[in-house]
Amino acid sequence: MSIRRAQPVSVVGAGLAGALLAILLARRGFAVSLYERRRDPRRGTPEAGRSINLALAARGIRALEHAGLMERVRPLMIEMRGRMVHEVGRPAVLLPYGQRAHEVIYSVERAALNRLLIEEALRFPGLALRFNTLCNGADVPGDALQLHDAASGRDYHAPLTPTIATDGAGSAVRASLQRAGLASVREEPLDHDYKELTIAAGADGCLLEPHALHIWPRHGFMLIALPNTDGSFTATLFLPRTGPVSFATLADASEIEPFFAREFPDAAPLLPDLRQQFARHPQAHMGTVHTAPWHAADHVLLLGDAAHAIVPFHGQGMNAAFEDCYTLDRLLETQAEWGALFADFERERRANVAAIAQMAIENYGEMRERVLDTRFLRQQAWARELEREFPERFIPRYSMVMFHPEISYAEALRRGAVQQEILDALSQHAGDSPCFDWASADHLIRTRLSLKAP
Ligand code: FAD
Repeated sequence: MSIRRAQPVSVVGAGLAGALLAILLARRGFAVSLYERRRDPRRGTPEAGRSINLALAARGIRALEHAGLMERVRPLMIEMRGRMVHEVGRPAVLLPYGQRAHEVIYSVERAALNRLLIEEALRFPGLALRFNTLCNGADVPGDALQLHDAASGRDYHAPLTPTIATDGAGSAVRASLQRAGLASVREEPLDHDYKELTIAAGADGCLLEPHALHIWPRHGFMLIALPNTDGSFTATLFLPRTGPVSFATLADASEIEPFFAREFPDAAPLLPDLRQQFARHPQAHMGTVHTAPWHAADHVLLLGDAAHAIVPFHGQGMNAAFEDCYTLDRLLETQAEWGALFADFERERRANVAAIAQMAIENYGEMRERVLDTRFLRQQAWARELEREFPERFIPRYSMVMFHPEISYAEALRRGAVQQEILDALSQHAGDSPCFDWASADHLIRTRLSLKAP
């Protein structure tokens, strides 16, 4: 089907990606119908226990800027300059994320950001937002988007072509494509779960340094905490489901407080209602969703978590979903057919999303374990020196992912692997010395790393 101005387009799911995408499409003059199963978030409190705050970085910011939204988003953002690492029996240490003032990431409340995007979407007269509307899937041969209106209890259909499904990690549209044999889906669950806990603000303000992402790395598990604008922090415990130190062992409520006192002695006093929160807040699963293809001809495209949910350890799921929106919007400038647009989008994004899915899993090891390793910390310090000396060639992988949207995820993964080989070679040569050989570094970098991609 050809792409025409004012044409009706359906978007399923008014979460982070769906609401942003609806804005971008409405701005281009499409008649967008946005279907959301939840009630209107402007009326009432958000659902509890679903990653209350998120790290926003350069890729997400670029997409929000592209949509002209950054001025409204900025007041929701709290700068996080690095990882504040809490080891047992030692003072907390800040490991900066980057070495330039702008190389920071931001904590943003999911509900506030989602509400803002929905408010912005509703400014477009041509955009119809239907809350309390559950999508049951896509009937591709019948060209029907299957919907259920919770208020009236009525099932009804809307034309399917073209639909973009942004209905999240548990996507009903994806499941319907899978049932129809139009997509193959592989879910790769992690054997670690998470639980969110709130560290309330103290009488005099924040109880932790507000401009940092706090980590309590404990090798097999970790606690993290991100700041909120009201001075509170949202902490998340990541722990194996079963095993000697696991959620299973904390099923006995009398184990929870001793576990926190032993493992997180400086965080435990900040959680006076720990046992009650533990009982109240859900224990949630994580995993990676691999789907192929992401589109069915010109009928429907999966985007964001619906196509490619990833584990949260690089803080990139939302950023990648926003980058999806940015990419699709840019491709709309050059494509005349929906089927070709969806195919182009998939071609441009697939390798990149596979790369961030892999890096997100790898980052779990870095956060809970490697930040405690002296060899890793020494290599990180060297990487910063090398970046200062060769800023156009050597950029730490974390920085490429978080601060350099002009470098694709796939390129960050590829260059990161070469850089790691260089650091390993320098380490081997240096032995126990804290210094590396500059001549070798210069040679390796100039011969193995091209200038960074434009
Ligand atoms: P969602 O935000 O899940 O939105 C889906 C929307 O579709 C929802 O509004 C939902 O109600 C609606 N919906 C679902 N099913 C239906 C249906 N059948 N019919 C109609 N509507 C439907 N990412 C980051 O970038 N940084 C982070 O720091 C970060 N931290 C995270 C921490 C945790 C613990 C988790 C779990 C995730 C984290 N993420 C983070 C990932 C991020 O939450 C997701 O990648 C992001 O929400 C994806 O956006 P989305 O719009 O694709 O999906």
